[in-house]
Amino acid sequence: MTPVGRFAPTPSGRMHLGNVFAGLIAWLSVRSAGGEMVLRMEDLDTQRTSGEYADLLREDLRWLGLNWDRETPPQSRRSRVYDGYFESLRDRGLLYPCYCTRSRLHSVNAPHLSDGTYVYPGTCRDLTPAQRAAFGREPAWRVRVPDRVWELEDRVQGVFRQNLQTDCGDFVVRRADGVYVYQLAVTVDDGEAGVTEVVRGMDLLGSAPRQMYLQELFGFPHPQYAHVPMLLSADGRRLSKRDRDLDMGALRRRMTPEALIGTLAGACGLLDRPEPISADELAMEFSWEKLRREDIRLTV
Ligand code: GLU
Repeated sequence: MTPVGRFAPTPSGRMHLGNVFAGLIAWLSVRSAGGEMVLRMEDLDTQRTSGEYADLLREDLRWLGLNWDRETPPQSRRSRVYDGYFESLRDRGLLYPCYCTRSRLHSVNAPHLSDGTYVYPGTCRDLTPAQRAAFGREPAWRVRVPDRVWELEDRVQGVFRQNLQTDCGDFVVRRADGVYVYQLAVTVDDGEAGVTEVVRGMDLLGSAPRQMYLQELFGFPHPQYAHVPMLLSADGRRLSKRDRDLDMGALRRRMTPEALIGTLAGACGLLDRPEPISADELAMEFSWEKLRREDIRLTV
């Protein structure tokens, strides 16, 4: 079977080095195996994303030599498609409306996940129709999760297990304003595009079991997962879009694509030492065994 991988950037700013790193490894994995690469803009949050950033992302990927075979429609244009999947869950009795406000959830003394979301205590799970009507406003919709352990064999992190009921709780698939959440959109998009491998930053490892659960409900096969280490700045912080000096605009002014890729390859273990190399040349050196698992502190 030909591997199918994907870039799934959020066009809410210029790519920074951490995005480049995850994208590079995704591309190397697919290309070194003769597979196909798909590009998709994750622009569900239309307030924070823009077509200009999407253009810059494509342009930065091309500059790096990270090409793709097809681009699938951006998430902001797919709500009709997501409606169908949402309704199939609702028809099967797997969803319920939730009226909890953000402040109410924060006041509940529940443990929370690494991505900042809380283990949902099931407050709205068994409301009566009269109780629901009394709120008088649009609800978010949550999917009921079973008491079951999800296990995945991550190519970088090894075995990862999560029980959605105790570690996450019933989770939101559509917000009260009608916008679908990342977990649903990413599952539908990867599934419909035939993605066989998901390579992304370690910060999304905790999302994988929610996506595996939805894959099962929608009848999509599970892709292979690889969650790559996070890049840290010289002072030990995780890089973010706020680190302007490490975004692609700044990097392109002072480095060649080969120098940038060589720096990343040296830091993550794909090369013994940093030296300029093109993405195509690096594909010949690529193997998952060489890749470091720990967070990578980088000075560029
Ligand atoms: N859109 C997400 C991001 O830019 C990535 C989601 C994913 O790879 O599943 O961080």
